Amino acid sequence: MRITRDPAEVRAALRGAERPLGLVPTMGALHAGHLELLARARSECRTVAASVFVNPLQFGPNEDFERYPRAFDSDLAALRAAGVDVVYAPDVATMYPPGFATTIDPGPVADGYEGALRPGHFRGVATVCVKLFATVCPDRAYFGAKDAQQVAVLRRVVADLDLPLELVVVPTVREPDGLALSSRNVYLDAEQRGAAPAIHRALDAIIRAVRAGETDRERAVARGRAELSPALREAYLDVVDPETFAATGEIRPPALAIASAWLGTTRLIDNEPIEPGAALQGERA
Ligand code: AMP
Repeated sequence: MRITRDPAEVRAALRGAERPLGLVPTMGALHAGHLELLARARSECRTVAASVFVNPLQFGPNEDFERYPRAFDSDLAALRAAGVDVVYAPDVATMYPPGFATTIDPGPVADGYEGALRPGHFRGVATVCVKLFATVCPDRAYFGAKDAQQVAVLRRVVADLDLPLELVVVPTVREPDGLALSSRNVYLDAEQRGAAPAIHRALDAIIRAVRAGETDRERAVARGRAELSPALREAYLDVVDPETFAATGEIRPPALAIASAWLGTTRLIDNEPIEPGAALQGERA
């Protein structure tokens, strides 16, 4: 496994690499969710590259950039075990040298929900991903469904900028109690950890309501809200179009139930798709 902090070295290492070439972008602190992306890339691609970069451009001034978990040595062991060929782990000064000024504005899909709570977040995500794509030139890039708005933003960016790669979206990996794996779960104390699965239960309640025939967004969301305990503070709970992240009055699948809640100073996110035909399955809520 080749490990480098230098984009020119990445290009050299991948010149003539066997295709398809898959890229798995990460911020490190790898968990089983990341491993799922790596396994999928390894199963579909002849060459696999992974990046490890905690991207300051996607963190707000009062967010957790400084304390975001970093575990480079164990990440490298996990990447090696996953069969990664090339690891790109640039320094901040390499990614954003003095004078750096060009960023990608992904438009309205980035405005609501995560974009509203984290102004500039998706500009940071889009910019770093386009830079990673330009350095690695992958045929496929692998992202987690857990960060659904990130996927919607990147789909827009890839389409709008004619980037010659395919986005592959990997289903969310969860703890047995439903909590989506996240590098931020380490911030939770025991009580918060106990309360956290309510986020996923809220999404499940929305899905059950739709399956039972509910088409009104507000009523479906209210069913989800009833699952949230006082230990959680809702940041948002809604049903949106998975492509545009616009909420509509009537739920018309395919749609996406999305949730975010604060546990103390930690905010977690999750989502579940509402598939076409969901309302026809006749399940009781
Ligand atoms: P991060 O390191 O948090 O930026 O995540 C890197 C990639 O892993 C992103 O595409 C995430 O969506 C994905 N990811 C994070 N958590 C999970 C999870 N629980 N299941 C699947 N993919 C995930």
